[in-house]
Amino acid sequence: MRTSSKPEREEISLLLVGCHDIVHLLAAQPSGKSRNIRYNVHSAASHEEAMREIENQPFDACLVNFDLAGKSGLDLVRDAAEAKHSLPFILMTDRDDRQVDEEAMTSGVVDYFVKDQVTAPLLRRAIRYGIERKRTENRLTALADYDELTGLANRTHFHGMLRHEMAVANRTGRQLAILFLDLDHFKQINDSMGHMMGDHLLRKVASTLRDCCRETDTIARLGGDEFAIVATHIEDGGGAEVVAQKILGALAEPFMIVGHNVQASTSIGIALYPSDEDNIERLLANADMAMYRSKAGGGNTYQFFDASLIDEVKRKRTISRELRHALDQDNFSAHYQPLFDVSGKEVIGAEALARWRQDDGTDISPAEFIPIAESSGLINQLGERMLLTACMDCKAWQDQGLADVGVAVNVSASQFRRSDIVAVVTRILKESRLDPALLELELTESIVMQDFEEAAHALQRLRKEGVRIAIDDFGTGYSSLTYLKHLPVDRLKIDQSFIAGVEKQTGDRAITRAVIRLGSGLGIDVTAEGVENKGQLDFLSSKKCSSVQGFYLARPMPLKDFVETVRIKNSTLSVAV
Ligand code: C2E
Ligand code: MG
Ligand code: MG
Repeated sequence: MRTSSKPEREEISLLLVGCHDIVHLLAAQPSGKSRNIRYNVHSAASHEEAMREIENQPFDACLVNFDLAGKSGLDLVRDAAEAKHSLPFILMTDRDDRQVDEEAMTSGVVDYFVKDQVTAPLLRRAIRYGIERKRTENRLTALADYDELTGLANRTHFHGMLRHEMAVANRTGRQLAILFLDLDHFKQINDSMGHMMGDHLLRKVASTLRDCCRETDTIARLGGDEFAIVATHIEDGGGAEVVAQKILGALAEPFMIVGHNVQASTSIGIALYPSDEDNIERLLANADMAMYRSKAGGGNTYQFFDASLIDEVKRKRTISRELRHALDQDNFSAHYQPLFDVSGKEVIGAEALARWRQDDGTDISPAEFIPIAESSGLINQLGERMLLTACMDCKAWQDQGLADVGVAVNVSASQFRRSDIVAVVTRILKESRLDPALLELELTESIVMQDFEEAAHALQRLRKEGVRIAIDDFGTGYSSLTYLKHLPVDRLKIDQSFIAGVEKQTGDRAITRAVIRLGSGLGIDVTAEGVENKGQLDFLSSKKCSSVQGFYLARPMPLKDFVETVRIKNSTLSVAV
């Protein structure tokens, strides 16, 4: 019945509810040049039967009688809309009634006819117009609800769906999980491979997420490289964990995009409803917090929200607030950790490490406050102050006779990127009158790799000024070593995690040995960080590491103690007092 041998014939599938008596109007063939339309008509007598029909098959339009055995046809219009069936309804009545007319107008039906006044052409036109109007309406809704790039739900639609699913969960007593995802290093991919590749990658990720979720889950792109999922039918946290693992596993395979292998990974935060929070805003904030913890742990992992995260966020906020005050009050100082030759006897340099003394006498670790200073934009101010203090102190110990003992200063990623580091260093060297050869800047591999061209240019200019460059925490960042050939690097500092394992872990021993050999081949000094015992020192000395630093030899200390330590350790040198 539904198929036609003539391709130009259009078929419209109609549901007639309580108005089968007008079916003859649809049977009449239009004359002349009118379109050749065939109506495939189904009938339902009651509201319930109509809902069943609508659930079971897609109709192009529905003609519904106003009077429907105890119910109004408008109830059907409302119930179908609530069940998210979007089809055009045309209301039929037996009598001309002003009240029905008004109700019909506000109910969302596309047209309204009094049965004995309607003609076949009028009805046919109303059906065609109604179908077109609904299509346009659906297209507009899609534009407003979905992300154009990926076709996933957008932020507004996601919030609406989450609210809806929360209400369903309340009714059914089920749990649901909210997963927040943020791609790792997306900016880098976008910057290095171009926005078109970035867009391709976002689309690939979107389709991976679709594959990992159920049809009933809502998947959204909230903006940029942020995605979110409302996973329904979750029995407990275990169900959400399975989804997260599936996503991480699926992303572990690189995508082939325009002939390139692109590796993506993501950080996921999970919050559960109703167990974590009842309020939608706080629920979303919890998932977001958990996502940040995944990110802070290096990414490519998932974390559940737990209450300790709130304390962590509160502490970060307090530190961030107090940082500015501490800068104004000059509550920061530099401690110096001696750098020894590999015998562990002679001090050959120092690393300046920032210290923040609280009013109550306790110290906050730089590992905690430096990232906060970075994100709150105070790092440039703090970094410059540390650089000036270290250069002035080093100049002072030169003047006291500790010649050739230089100082190393850490430079954070955003300080390197956000300030004109060359201009800052040049100005501070001038101000402190320190010999540039005695200043070493410690950068991490990720700083260099984030924008290689720009970093290489800045490092060349620093080298021209006579400043030395060290790569800190070497081995924890990028495994690409080719950059070492192209950059003016003077020192590699093997990360303390490898040194911690040199006695027992064959892998750590092999890496440490390889880095020492690499340095010697390239003519670069190699320092081992975090030496904590004699066994480690002996190993490093046997492998001819250039220098060592660690608690076994000396802890970071205030300036006065540092000067004293150098005097004692280097007593064989003639030190003027
Ligand atoms: P880093 O640059 O790798 O500095 C070495 C860290 O290891 C220091 O921690 C030092 O106290 C610690 N350390 C040294 N020897 C040992 C050892 O034998 N065992 C162990 N377990 N640890 C050892 P600290 O002072 O807490 O600094 C942590 C990190 O904070 C630094 O790591 C550096 O990345 C950052 N930082 C410190 N001061 C500054 C600064 O002025 N500016 C910037 N941008 N970052 C800084
Ligand atoms: Mg360092
Ligand atoms: Mg280090």
